[in-house]
Amino acid sequence: MDKDKLQIAISSATPEQLGATLAQRVVRLREIRNMTQKDIVKSSPRFTLERVQDIESGVETWLSSSDRQLLARALVVDPVILQEVETRPRYSAESDAAMMLSKEADITESILMGARELECPRCGNILRCRVQEGLDMDGQPVYLAKAFCQKCPYVLK
Ligand SMILES: [Zn+2]
Repeated sequence: MDKDKLQIAISSATPEQLGATLAQRVVRLREIRNMTQKDIVKSSPRFTLERVQDIESGVETWLSSSDRQLLARALVVDPVILQEVETRPRYSAESDAAMMLSKEADITESILMGARELECPRCGNILRCRVQEGLDMDGQPVYLAKAFCQKCPYVLK
């Protein structure tokens, strides 16, 4: 296959076909390119053979942007192909949820103070905000902070 056909084969491949993890994807792409681990080292001397093996065995699950560019260039793919399956060491689900709650508390407070455009806690895009007036069970006025993201499904209720 010539290079153009390979490019089409990769761009039309489903995420499953290319692999769902960085490790699987690098192995798949390398095989599609008919390259050995040594070939990657040869075309990107910054990568040692051990490093390539670490990536392919899943020890390393994300790359710095310069490393990603080099590896993507060696595999002749768009860096996004690698980036979309990278996973960073993350906090536990509980601390994520706690962090979201504390962000939402900040957002709520800012909205009630008058902010109308804040940063979405999910995606960082603009959050449209408003204050909704209502009555509580005793007929007292209450003010509720409402917000929704313009880019992602995030809604502050
Ligand atoms: Zn968002």
